[in-house]
Amino acid sequence: MGTIDLDQGDPDFVKELAGQSGGQIRACFTCRTCVASCPISAINREFNPAKIIRMALYGLKEEILKSAFIWLCTTCYACQERCPQGVSITDFMTHLKNMAIKEGHAPPGIRAQLKLVKGEGRIYPIDDFDNKKRNKAGLPPLPTSCDAIKELFL
Ligand code: SF4
Ligand code: SF4
Repeated sequence: MGTIDLDQGDPDFVKELAGQSGGQIRACFTCRTCVASCPISAINREFNPAKIIRMALYGLKEEILKSAFIWLCTTCYACQERCPQGVSITDFMTHLKNMAIKEGHAPPGIRAQLKLVKGEGRIYPIDDFDNKKRNKAGLPPLPTSCDAIKELFL
């Protein structure tokens, strides 16, 4: 996350976010409580939820949706619980990730996980080998696919 280039702004992006969880970001007064609360910001100074909100308000849609940094958010909700303005920051981050996927900008690792969930219903598919190990440990077998989740993608 380098300097912000305002010439790249898309004025319709904020309108696109309005009505979604992103609509509340206008209330942000840049106190940086979210940054101080964020465990990712603590270990990676490049990750800054307040800056992502500012970039969204400036309409930097492409720069945000094509970025790797939105995927660093662990959805821990620490920022959202503490924001004095009641901004649903975590939900906003999730909304950005969903937009990035819809527009084809998800990174390869996320696309691979999506494919697994669509195909198997799980990120970590269970197979007969896993069930043999469970059996040895005295655990009951688990189903090898999860149709309820697969149906969500139909
Ligand atoms: S804590 Fe809330 S008001 Fe403060 S910078 Fe973050 S989003 Fe903005
Ligand atoms: S939800 Fe995301 S942005 Fe908010 S504190 Fe957790 S990791 Fe940071």
